[in-house]
Amino acid sequence: MEENMEKTCPRCGMKLGEFRKTGLLGCAGCYCAFREEILPTVRRVQGRIRHEGKAPPEGAGQNYSLMLEQALLKENIERALREGRFSEAESKRALLKETNRILHGEDGK
Ligand SMILES: [Zn+2]
Repeated sequence: MEENMEKTCPRCGMKLGEFRKTGLLGCAGCYCAFREEILPTVRRVQGRIRHEGKAPPEGAGQNYSLMLEQALLKENIERALREGRFSEAESKRALLKETNRILHGEDGK
């Protein structure tokens, strides 16, 4: 798949190429701007959480992946609510809670 590394966030001016290099988003708008490019990462994280039911191992990029996932989930929840798909919103909320737990280290003992 080819990527346009010159693709730029309209809000903060960060380029996709920079994101690929650093793994860090410049602002919330980056998520929308690079949505297509970062979705595969997000999906991978989601799948891992669902299948193993626990936090992925510590490692570089974990937090940013989870933060992307949270942004995606929030968006999905809002859309599901708007369109009256409440059970979908509910299951996405559970996932969101899971990512919060991992991000903030409230993973129990
Ligand atoms: Zn940005």
